[in-house]
Amino acid sequence: MASSPSDCIFCKIVQRQIPASTIFDDDSVIAFLDVSPLASGHLLVIPKVHANQLIDLPETVASDIGRVLPQLGRALLMVSGADGFNVLQNNGEVAGQVVGHVHFHLIPRFKDDGLGYRWNAGAYEDGQMNDVCDLFKQALAS
Ligand code: 5GP
Ligand code: ZN
Repeated sequence: MASSPSDCIFCKIVQRQIPASTIFDDDSVIAFLDVSPLASGHLLVIPKVHANQLIDLPETVASDIGRVLPQLGRALLMVSGADGFNVLQNNGEVAGQVVGHVHFHLIPRFKDDGLGYRWNAGAYEDGQMNDVCDLFKQALAS
């Protein structure tokens, strides 16, 4: 997975070195059609600055992306006629990330479209939720 700007396909799209069907472009964010869509209108929303994963994004850039997601979602619903959509954001190969430039998938969803995760929900042992909750508080305070 490429994670340096020089060999990053999405940086090349930002710099217009390779073409993309760009539907949105502002100072720090672009959105374009995924070339291999899960449904027509499947969008990728990316920061113009190179960052590998969500955890690498400067807060201002994360804010810039978050600010435009509702607008892009509304446009996606209008254009695709979808009944809903998923925002999917993969971090790391184990999570399905192939392109090493942080990106948000906006995926149109239709009734019975067959897409979906195996959502194998588990359960916590007695008291385990409190322990995990404490670990998060410690991590966030560090
Ligand atoms: P990931 O698996 O990393 O979350 O998703 C990467 C996405 O980028 C894939 O859905 C793939 O189809 C898309 N993609 C990869 N290369 C290109 C490209 O050159 N142009 C466009 N428009 N999409 C791309
Ligand atoms: Zn990049």
